[in-house]
Amino acid sequence: MTFIVGLTGGIGSGKSAAATLFEQLGATVVDTDAIAHALTAPGGAAIVPIRAAFGDEVIDARGALDRAAMRRKVFADASAKARLEGILHPMIRAEADRRSAAARSAYVVLVVPLLVESGGYRSRVQRVAVVDCPEEMQVARVMARSVLSAEEARAIMAAQVDRQARLAVADDVIDNGGELAALRPQVEALHRRYIEMAAVS
Ligand code: ATP
Repeated sequence: MTFIVGLTGGIGSGKSAAATLFEQLGATVVDTDAIAHALTAPGGAAIVPIRAAFGDEVIDARGALDRAAMRRKVFADASAKARLEGILHPMIRAEADRRSAAARSAYVVLVVPLLVESGGYRSRVQRVAVVDCPEEMQVARVMARSVLSAEEARAIMAAQVDRQARLAVADDVIDNGGELAALRPQVEALHRRYIEMAAVS
């Protein structure tokens, strides 16, 4: 059985930065956000069922999911979010399973931003690693990276579980409250542990 480490953390906490380091060390990284994007890109497997459920108006001229149109629909109809997730989540899980099973590395890092919130993933991973930093740092990093305002960044954070709840489910904590360079030795230490754990699992 593939040894799977679920990697999670709040928005802007540094999940991608940590995942890149695991990948550089030789771990297979399976990113559920990337899978969701591929499924909803032009020609993606989720486009046909999404079009069937919501109509042509949520598909853009390139044949991709029109996120802005979909957001408006979700805003107008609360059940639309659950229906969209009902289409996407099983497809994301199936593709994540497929990629994890095909991995040839000692273990797999499965990046799931909402691992704590979505429940279903807890039982699918052998280990939970949380990338952690103070919430004000999350806001600053999200703002530096994108056009989001501090209010928008805080609104996204408010819809996620809080820092303490995430830390409460962590088997391992990756402290990203310092410089980016401080991540590497932590990831290297975890990489060695995960190889040992995978060997006896
Ligand atoms: P999201 O949840 O939005 O996908 P994430 O958790 O994957 O975000 P990253 O994309 O890795 O987070 O980091 C968010 C931003 O903060 C990036 O622009 C990244 O370069 C920067 N960043 C990450 N860690 C640090 C750090 N220790 N010091 C300074 N900047 C950092």
